[in-house]
Amino acid sequence: MGSKDCESMEKLQVKDKTFAISIREAEIQKEVRRVAAEINRDLAGKEPLFLPVLNGAFIFAADLLREVTIPCEVSFIKLASYQGTQTTGAVREVIGLAKDITGRHVVIVEDIIDSGLTMAHMIETLEAHNPASISVCSLLVKPDALKVQVPIHYRCMNIPNDFIVGYGLDYDGFGRNTRDVYTLVKD
Ligand code: 5GP
Ligand code: MG
Repeated sequence: MGSKDCESMEKLQVKDKTFAISIREAEIQKEVRRVAAEINRDLAGKEPLFLPVLNGAFIFAADLLREVTIPCEVSFIKLASYQGTQTTGAVREVIGLAKDITGRHVVIVEDIIDSGLTMAHMIETLEAHNPASISVCSLLVKPDALKVQVPIHYRCMNIPNDFIVGYGLDYDGFGRNTRDVYTLVKD
């Protein structure tokens, strides 16, 4: 078979599930460049601090930041893996905030916003540190799945309310290492 560079797989098997290609590399890259241009324009002179959320945003962040041409810093954050028991849903604590964000223009870089609960909690946590501003930049958004209102300043694409993998996103830890995005084939 050809290498990943020249052709995409139409189907992807990840553990027990089958996925079909849904967003191709070229389309992703086009939208990443568009969003980076918006950031370059909006945050010029503000020396933003990008906070990509591990693990899912690692590929998006790498591509996005190579298109960001203004002076900036990057520091990865993570969400604790335990799940809370609050009735509001699973709330995960932000960990690994290594940089002082006080007075900084912060850009949260996420892979996907689904219910929005994770992002709402992240914004609340970061706001307590008094940044100058918080912008949200998400590769993907599922508008039909949103349960809470979250500001989304930069988004590459909206997608339907289906489970996806690839380009950093996983199914049970696997499937992150593809150039395209794949959607679960329902059986
Ligand atoms: P939310 O709190 O917005 O409901 O969920 C956000 C998190 O759920 C994302 O950061 C991601 O980790 C996970 N997630 C939501 N939808 C998907 C999906 O379709 N595929 C994968 N792999 N993860 C998802
Ligand atoms: Mg995530």
